[in-house]
Amino acid sequence: MKSERIKPSACPHCGKVLDCASCLDEPEAKPKKGDLSVCVGCNSILAFEDDLSLRSFSHDELNSLPDEHKRVILRTRQMALDMKSGFSWKI
Ligand SMILES: [Zn+2]
Repeated sequence: MKSERIKPSACPHCGKVLDCASCLDEPEAKPKKGDLSVCVGCNSILAFEDDLSLRSFSHDELNSLPDEHKRVILRTRQMALDMKSGFSWKI
């Protein structure tokens, strides 16, 4: 999995400074405004802004996503939790 450097940005929930992002489905993808991410510190769902800083992504915003997009971000969130606990996904 390839990581892309992003503008260092503190997670609005836990304060962890995030400076890179990885796309699980498309290793060469670069983040852009509106893409979603998961904080490696607290597992919160975040959204990229114009300058690639990160902002909170609300439950209302999550609920307004199409079901397929919801499944992808929730699966990503679960994978991040599993990786923190030592479980290894084969992707
Ligand atoms: Zn966080």
